[in-house]
Amino acid sequence: MNERYSRQILFNGIGKEGQRRLFESRALIVGCGALGSAHAESLARAGVGKLRIADRDFVESSNLQRQTMFTERDASERIPKAIAAATHIREINSEIEVEAEIADINHSNIERLVRNCDVVLDGTDNFATRYLINDACVKHEISWIYGAAVGSYGVTMTVQPHQTPCLRCVFAEAPPAASAPTCDTAGVIMPIISVVSAVQVAEALKLLTGQNESLHRSLMQFDVWRNEWRKINPGPPSADCLTCAQGRYATLEAASGDFAAVLCGRNAVQISPAQATQLNFEELAERLRLTGEVKFNDYLLRFQTGDFELTVFHDARSIIRGTNEIKLARSLYAKYIGN
Ligand SMILES: [Zn+2]
Repeated sequence: MNERYSRQILFNGIGKEGQRRLFESRALIVGCGALGSAHAESLARAGVGKLRIADRDFVESSNLQRQTMFTERDASERIPKAIAAATHIREINSEIEVEAEIADINHSNIERLVRNCDVVLDGTDNFATRYLINDACVKHEISWIYGAAVGSYGVTMTVQPHQTPCLRCVFAEAPPAASAPTCDTAGVIMPIISVVSAVQVAEALKLLTGQNESLHRSLMQFDVWRNEWRKINPGPPSADCLTCAQGRYATLEAASGDFAAVLCGRNAVQISPAQATQLNFEELAERLRLTGEVKFNDYLLRFQTGDFELTVFHDARSIIRGTNEIKLARSLYAKYIGN
């Protein structure tokens, strides 16, 4: 093993054998915002051999305060986060493999994404996606590390399927929509991202090097403004948990039709088409230029018309900004992108 990992190899918990195991591992990072980009950078520097990074969004200037992977250029060119992260990681560590996946995580792709992964890190910002990760990871017996941060508060827990409580053992249901603060309504500061992501990455390194006895085995909560640090014992896995006790993976079952979601606090709605498709941006741009301003790059097309902005990906998934109403977003989608 080369000089670049020498300080990590010197560390007792890792050593030469641990470093070899890291290099032979694959980690999936779901969501590449603040937490996810911190995971990606740390795991790349640590020499985890294969990183798979999945994210549905593109870089914006409001990300730069805490999403350390990205630059002003990424924001001005609206590069998808998965691509921007992969590009920067290749410059940080050219010895590892990076797979970038521009996608909304849902029942149709989560099982493919977790396949062949040794660990999954949660960099998402919503409970719906976390239950998907939980179902897929429990079903395929892959350890995953829950993490969340908002304001100055953060929380993390490591799930080893059938050995420790899963997310549904601890939270049987997601908090009702709009009941909990989000980064878009309550803001978030960088230091809590650093704390939560650091604990998640340390847990990933322990799992990948087989040092399971060092896992923290708790629900860890931190508030870097109120100076509160708590370790809650979640007890054993719940005997009547739908997911890990009964083996029911409700979120993995196919839904039909298109899928629309309000993107919290962003005055935007995401529409995913029911049918898989592949758009030709040149043709679409030609058509849309008659009614508004169009720009596109290799990954996405942006169309401005009146008060609305549509960002369209190759698979026809679109983020419609300028409204929180699904009905209106659907009609704009039908009008400009088609069905
Ligand atoms: Zn469970």
